[in-house]
Amino acid sequence: MTVDFYAFVDDAVRHVLPPDCLRAVPDNLPGKHHCKISHAFHVTTSVSRYQLAYVLVLPYSLFLTKEIKDQIIALRDAVFAQNDLLVVISEEKGAWELGDVGEFVWRLLPIDSPNSLWIVCKRDRQRKATIDRRGFCDLYDFIRLLYEGAMEFSAPTVGINNVCMEIMLDICPKCQQLMKTFTGIVFPDRQLDRWDNGDWHYYNTIITPAFMKPANAWAIWKYIHRLRKRDRCITPVGYRYSKNLEQIVFTAICPHCKAHRVEHKWYNIRESHMGTHNSRMLGLLEYHSISLNVNLEIIKFLTHGYEPGPHTCPSGWRRRLVTSINGYSPFLKG
Ligand SMILES: [Zn+2]
Repeated sequence: MTVDFYAFVDDAVRHVLPPDCLRAVPDNLPGKHHCKISHAFHVTTSVSRYQLAYVLVLPYSLFLTKEIKDQIIALRDAVFAQNDLLVVISEEKGAWELGDVGEFVWRLLPIDSPNSLWIVCKRDRQRKATIDRRGFCDLYDFIRLLYEGAMEFSAPTVGINNVCMEIMLDICPKCQQLMKTFTGIVFPDRQLDRWDNGDWHYYNTIITPAFMKPANAWAIWKYIHRLRKRDRCITPVGYRYSKNLEQIVFTAICPHCKAHRVEHKWYNIRESHMGTHNSRMLGLLEYHSISLNVNLEIIKFLTHGYEPGPHTCPSGWRRRLVTSINGYSPFLKG
């Protein structure tokens, strides 16, 4: 690259921010040397109308010593303590090819939070930028959207969540009879009266029964017990020993022959339903609302997985939605 990455980010910020923008004085910006905040300006986010966005630039070539890592973590803690926003802009070989800096940001910073935004600039695409590794645009577009309050953080959080139990039309491989298999829970991006339509997405991926904690498993068991009073094809649920996982897991059970139906056995069938929303309209996949108390482990699993396709949307930062019909509005496709 002919232009230094620090200068590249400086140009993008200066290109966007108007002269009258409320910003911190450069001499007062926290950090030092390679870990100094380069810009801090006021933005409007879901957290606060007057949140300060602190920009930390991390080039691909930065050699991460323990001292530098400690400084980055200290900066993060200071920004989080003020309930402000840390905007990490790093340079990577590719969106899916992280160097040492990217791996550090990915593993050690709790970056998937309303108090932190990670923008990755790809060296191999004229430094086009992405926040979700799928859509790309110019870096100054992200900064402009952020400054104008046109970005939002949207994701499930720890605690009570209104989720959907997913039930899939299935055939028992053992007794060959029709059944409706409980495949897990999904986190919808909005609340609707009916789920048999394409008006909604769920965040990232499904959480399969094996990941359910006992309290949630009990709530699901009771709900499915009620559903089965009017539809005996729905699989009951319970704990069974899985030879594949070599442990006892919460799983769906065939209502006819009592064989248990764990994820790796129905995965391919479900995948064939994921290409279109028609699977919802045709009843191949049906959803039922349930409130569950969700812990951090489930949220972490959810935010680190992703099923591509028309059923899902990524959690985290995104362009603020302007309608409730179009759903997720991606940036330029990568
Ligand atoms: Zn069966």
